[in-house]
Amino acid sequence: MELIINACFPDEKRIALAEKIIQITAIDHINGYCVIESIDTENIGLISGSRDYGIYFSPENKIESKEVSQQIDSLKNQFEHSHIVWLSSKSYKSNDIKFAWILAHEFGHVFQNTKERQPNGNKFSELRRQEKFKSLPASRMCKNEIDSDLLAYQVCSNIFGEDNMVNYLNKNGIERCPCNMYPLFLREALSE
Ligand SMILES: [Zn+2]
Repeated sequence: MELIINACFPDEKRIALAEKIIQITAIDHINGYCVIESIDTENIGLISGSRDYGIYFSPENKIESKEVSQQIDSLKNQFEHSHIVWLSSKSYKSNDIKFAWILAHEFGHVFQNTKERQPNGNKFSELRRQEKFKSLPASRMCKNEIDSDLLAYQVCSNIFGEDNMVNYLNKNGIERCPCNMYPLFLREALSE
């Protein structure tokens, strides 16, 4: 996985953090590109809306050239077997924890595609049957998304410390699934 930062003056700390996540997740053996934008890309036709923090393009993904930047389009065409993770400037400009969370989350989707991660759907369903987790919205409970959040949680705890993560998530929640109980759900899914 090769890191490409689209920036005139890339932030050294941000690059170091991205490199650290590549190292912790051991994703570097996977053939692909991780493209991080530092400049707003609203005008270059990238898929936006709910996906505008990060997107994962698997080698099987067929994408319309008008939906992505020219750079992503040419990477897709030149290296058709590559996995591509794209992070928007919105992610680049986020705080360290949020940036790391988004990047590790997208890497989770790469590992799901390569079958290096197998989301434990049974465990998630079993946990969700508990009374305290009944309020979690079904629309946010796709097993691949939960699994990617689990990787993000592990990677961020490793980098920032477990206590800091608990505080951060209690205060800020997780944008993908802002329900109060979701951080606890992830913690319990990670335990045992
Ligand atoms: Zn996702």
